[in-house]
Amino acid sequence: MSSFDPARIAIPCAHFIDGRRVVDKGELATVRPSDGATYAELPIADAGVLDDAVGSARKAFLRSEWARQAPRERARIMRRWADLIEADVDYLASLEALGSTRPIDQARAWDVPYTAEGIRFFAEFADKHGGEVAATAHDHLGMQIAEPLGVIGAIAPWNFPLSMTCWKVAPALAAGNTVVLKPSEMTPFTAVRLAELAIEAGMPAGVFNVIQGSGPITGDALCRHPEIAKVTFTGSTATGRAIMGACAETGPKPVTLELGGKSPQLVFADIPDIDRTAQTLAAAITGNAGQVCVAGSRLLIQKPLLESMIERLAASFGTLTPGLTWQEGSRFSPIISSVQLERIESIVARAREAGAELLTGGERFESGLGGCFYRPTILHVNNRHNPAVDEEIFGPVLTIQTFEDEEEALALAEHEVYGLASGIHTADLGRALRAVRKLSAGTVWVNRYGRSNDYILPTGGYKRSGIGRDLGRAAFEANLHHKSVLIDLNP
Ligand code: NAD
Repeated sequence: MSSFDPARIAIPCAHFIDGRRVVDKGELATVRPSDGATYAELPIADAGVLDDAVGSARKAFLRSEWARQAPRERARIMRRWADLIEADVDYLASLEALGSTRPIDQARAWDVPYTAEGIRFFAEFADKHGGEVAATAHDHLGMQIAEPLGVIGAIAPWNFPLSMTCWKVAPALAAGNTVVLKPSEMTPFTAVRLAELAIEAGMPAGVFNVIQGSGPITGDALCRHPEIAKVTFTGSTATGRAIMGACAETGPKPVTLELGGKSPQLVFADIPDIDRTAQTLAAAITGNAGQVCVAGSRLLIQKPLLESMIERLAASFGTLTPGLTWQEGSRFSPIISSVQLERIESIVARAREAGAELLTGGERFESGLGGCFYRPTILHVNNRHNPAVDEEIFGPVLTIQTFEDEEEALALAEHEVYGLASGIHTADLGRALRAVRKLSAGTVWVNRYGRSNDYILPTGGYKRSGIGRDLGRAAFEANLHHKSVLIDLNP
């Protein structure tokens, strides 16, 4: 039985600095998306708290064993951390479900174990990398030594609070850096629990710190802090631009930016099983109520399939009903906030004014639960440009455009701004591989949509969808820099 009573869940309403919770005065109402109730007053880190957190991370970087010890010891602590996270699944999953859009069944079955696995994955790199010896003249020895960067500033979004924290933090720590994380002010608490478990696993105090606060104040100040060596960020493209500006003005400092998307799915008439493809398409836009960076939000479909696909998608959407995230069996997520709900409504309204035809949905779910829910929606768009095609909606809204042939499909797939992910569904291998070459996206899924649970393939954006990569070896290496050493053998 995974349902739980939200009133019984203790909220770690604090920063986490130098190995302990720092309780501060609450300033920002934190709201449960499922029912709209305020359940905590979040502290906001001021300049003093920020200095404490960065100072503690800097001290841990210079003086603790973290960066200096044998890397296999770091890996051992991180593996133990992952074990403790899994053992804490009851509490962590409840805390995640209570404060975010993640239904409890999914938080237990996916978010918590996936976070633990991510930590294990990156821990493995800690002692499995090295520098290189350079091709020099024989009376020289040239080497490159990989070293951690220092204190990494990490900023995470609200849509998958635990796993996005893992993506940001685990590779940075495995490479020997220390971290100050600012979670989203809308989902701030599971990160504190993660930091506590890290201490329990044996991580030195100050290696992983969490500060709370809003983006434009605390997040901006974190990016600008002189002791921050690099910023790793996941969130919207607009915020990514602001963060890059702050890092340029106060650095330049390197950034990794994982940003927004408007990902197309191309469906050709030769697919062998329309029901299976329909299920994939539906899941790609209704999972987490479309609040997924790689949501498959633009369906491009070959004309003969249009009617039969709409019928199947509408039927599938009709089975989804709102549920409290703390109730077993809830499948369809709330929208994170009333502001985000209004944003979805406004884009759908502008899309219809611009000629999009509403096929299903297009309104709030009046659920009576108190939270914000939006009906899964399909908009048929005839033009190449429409607000619902151009803008990231971050809600359960699917646009459908039709094409005649492969050339037209690939032209429609190209987005002027975003290039995060894409999907192609076809029985023709040659066509799939031609599309793989032509699609401007950091990820192409063929006859599926969405990541597997493996961490090995990097993820990131083409165009304005990002700079750098999360996951894979690339994410680990982005947390290192290289020192060149040249030794004169005949001084
Ligand atoms: P957001 O950009 O509003 O906020 C993300 C984080 O940045 C939050 O912690 C916020 O407090 C902070 N922030 C806001 N303004 C800031 C500033 N000026 N300086 C420093 N920090 C600031 O994004 P969101 O609404 O939390 O998340 C949704 C967005 O995240 C979507 O655009 C989605 O596509 C994107 N996303 C991308 C990926 C990816 O891997 N590419 C993954 C998940 C989410």
